[in-house]
Amino acid sequence: MKYSQFYAPTKKDVAKTDSINAYLLTKAGYVSQVAAGVYALLPLGLRSIKKIEQIVREEMDAIGGNEVSFTALQSEKLWQDSGRWDDENFRSILYKDQESGMTLAPTHEEPMVVAVKEAIQSYRDLPVLLYQFQTKFRKELRPKSGLLRGREFRMKDLYSFHLNDEDHQKFYEIIAGAYTKSYDRIGLESYRVKASGGFFTKQFSDEFQVICETGEDEILVNHDKKTGYNKEVEDQIPASEKDKLERVKGIEVGNIFHLETKYSKPLGLEVLDEKGERQTVIMGSYGIGISRLLGTLAEVFNDENGLKMPKQVAPFHIYIIDMTDTGKGEELAELLEKEGYEVLLDDRETSNGGKMVDADLLGMPIRLVYSKKTAEADSIEVKVRETGEVSLVKEKDLLNHLKKLLS
Ligand code: ATP
Ligand code: MG
Repeated sequence: MKYSQFYAPTKKDVAKTDSINAYLLTKAGYVSQVAAGVYALLPLGLRSIKKIEQIVREEMDAIGGNEVSFTALQSEKLWQDSGRWDDENFRSILYKDQESGMTLAPTHEEPMVVAVKEAIQSYRDLPVLLYQFQTKFRKELRPKSGLLRGREFRMKDLYSFHLNDEDHQKFYEIIAGAYTKSYDRIGLESYRVKASGGFFTKQFSDEFQVICETGEDEILVNHDKKTGYNKEVEDQIPASEKDKLERVKGIEVGNIFHLETKYSKPLGLEVLDEKGERQTVIMGSYGIGISRLLGTLAEVFNDENGLKMPKQVAPFHIYIIDMTDTGKGEELAELLEKEGYEVLLDDRETSNGGKMVDADLLGMPIRLVYSKKTAEADSIEVKVRETGEVSLVKEKDLLNHLKKLLS
């Protein structure tokens, strides 16, 4: 891809906002702010989001998830039937579309229950596992953490429907494993942290937290086990565990909930069991903050020069700067693209210094520079953004070298 044909408008003077992620992602041309807590994804941001989603999609498919796409508009009546419309805990997050009287989806339990209720009758139809990547709308007060807390944001949400609690609990552990694997693949170390399950269940929920100084949550974590507790349930930590915990700040990048019959009961979702008796279906819901993950990557992987995106989710793998007029840059880009790498060739008519600055700002894992000096040594300069390591690599060794760095 040639930068001259690619829309990645980097910015020189972005106001230092409250959040590092909004500052860096705006400066590097990944996102464009529409309003507080409302961000448009530009091509760089969208490329990363698609990679994050693809990793999560693969992990949800691997455990039997079925991808769907529900609507952002939901009936107010349905929310009244489930009891959430007038529930103070949820009311504060509801947006209402004045014309249709419908709500703009803050989450999707209700419409999922209705769709499943229309489709199943028997225990043989269970389990049902539906998930989607959808836009959510919430009235967040003071959204000043960039992509970490949007009024409009992208979420992966999965809803599970099981015949009984035993089957549900088994699946709950399976999806917890799939979450850990997803974050690993994205390049983030996550902690499985116990938190309040909500006011209707005695069971804990589990949050997946990434340790980060700028995170909103206070958590107590066990570094060996990669587990922990949210401060909100601190009084329930067994005494035997307390001294192994460290108090840190975290970003909640996902959470999983036992819903029991909280929604299936009021909305009448029942099936006939083996004995022909009616059973209320047991549910769980499982969220991953997709846009929050992009914000988290920016918060965790950066330095004073810009972003340092992990290779699995970076918009491109390789950034090329050709300081000569030999056409070598284009030749390299073509060669590397044939090898399956995603390449951004900086062919803009700007100074080489400016290109070097932007290469660091955008944060692709590898930067290649071809210049008169490297040409004299039949070499290309290779910089690893993560470590800052710079080396001269013989042209004939380049592919092997990149393979090692990017595999
Ligand atoms: P939080 O405690 O941070 O408000 P939540 O408990 O409201 O999160 P859920 O409603 O369960 O979160 O949503 C699932 C996931 O979606 C969260 O774990 C988080 O990663 C993400 N998320 C929630 N609210 C936002 C938001 N306003 N902006 C971006 N991501 C969000
Ligand atoms: Mg919330």
